[in-house]
Amino acid sequence: MNLSIVIPLLNEEESLVELHDWIVRVMQDNGFSYEILFIDDGSTDASWSVIDTLSNSNTNVKGIRFQRNFGKSQALHAGFKAASGEVVITMDADLQDNPEEIPELYAMVLNEGYDLVSGWKKKRYDSVLFKNMPSKLFNWAARRTSGVRLNDFNCGLKAYRKEVIKTIEVSGEMHRYIPVLAKSAGFSNIGEKVVQHQARKYGKTKFGMERFTNGFLDLITIWFVSKFGKQPMHLFGALGAIMFIIGFGLALYLGIDKLFINKTGRLITDRPQFYIALTSMVMGTQLFLAGFLGELLTRSRKNQTRYTISDETTNKL
Ligand code: UDP
Ligand code: MG
Repeated sequence: MNLSIVIPLLNEEESLVELHDWIVRVMQDNGFSYEILFIDDGSTDASWSVIDTLSNSNTNVKGIRFQRNFGKSQALHAGFKAASGEVVITMDADLQDNPEEIPELYAMVLNEGYDLVSGWKKKRYDSVLFKNMPSKLFNWAARRTSGVRLNDFNCGLKAYRKEVIKTIEVSGEMHRYIPVLAKSAGFSNIGEKVVQHQARKYGKTKFGMERFTNGFLDLITIWFVSKFGKQPMHLFGALGAIMFIIGFGLALYLGIDKLFINKTGRLITDRPQFYIALTSMVMGTQLFLAGFLGELLTRSRKNQTRYTISDETTNKL
């Protein structure tokens, strides 16, 4: 199968038939073999019955239904698990992404060797104040922290080599950072294509203002995980050791001072340095432990390294 088209959706009943017909037209014009996977992320409108009708009358249409709203990332993840096409396309269900872009995205992955091609809504049809401006800041921060040079991380329209989506785990609200996840899994050939964008035709956006807070928190997580995820000890262990040594040194000084030098001076517990020493030692120990536990956790996941063995080597093994 050439293509799997994965479409996460939440309450998009008005758009689905139109979107389906449009995709089918593009597929037939280009002679692709394909499947369309609708993932209903807990819709409370008629979306599921529309999907049901579509999949009963079309062998190419498949539907997955969540019991409740789990979020776009989980919907994408479920779609990725089920997809079987050589190239996997993701797109939004609200008709903001244009299916006419699919053939070129497909060609970029198949013929130009890209692992992932991300759409770039260069001309956006969304609210300037609430989406376009914050999104610029957000993309800048994502570029800075991840080193992935994309203009539009969060574009719903993307194309992947099958291997990529079978490898990465999209959890939480990480759908905004799939290119970063792909890069840290070793798929570094990431491209971008300017895509047509339309204003939302029906319904309204499913992400409120919390998109920004959640988006930035996830960004911090990604930055942290990619920087220290493999060696938690390098951060926590080092910090912990430094803090502990400072505290211990101070406590030692107070003790020596009281026992041998200034015997009749103030009580140790009356001196502010005592509390600094105490806090430093406690915090140092905790940081060190955090690093150690993190190290144990990553150890159980170290075997996820991706590699291929050449035929030549396989024969020798
Ligand atoms: N969506 C989803 N689960 C959610 C929220 C959104 O599957 O919890 C889908 C939504 O139906 C649409 C896509 O994700 O197909 C993008 O959402 P939306 O258009 O609301 O985002 P925006 O275009 O405003 O960024
Ligand atoms: Mg939208």
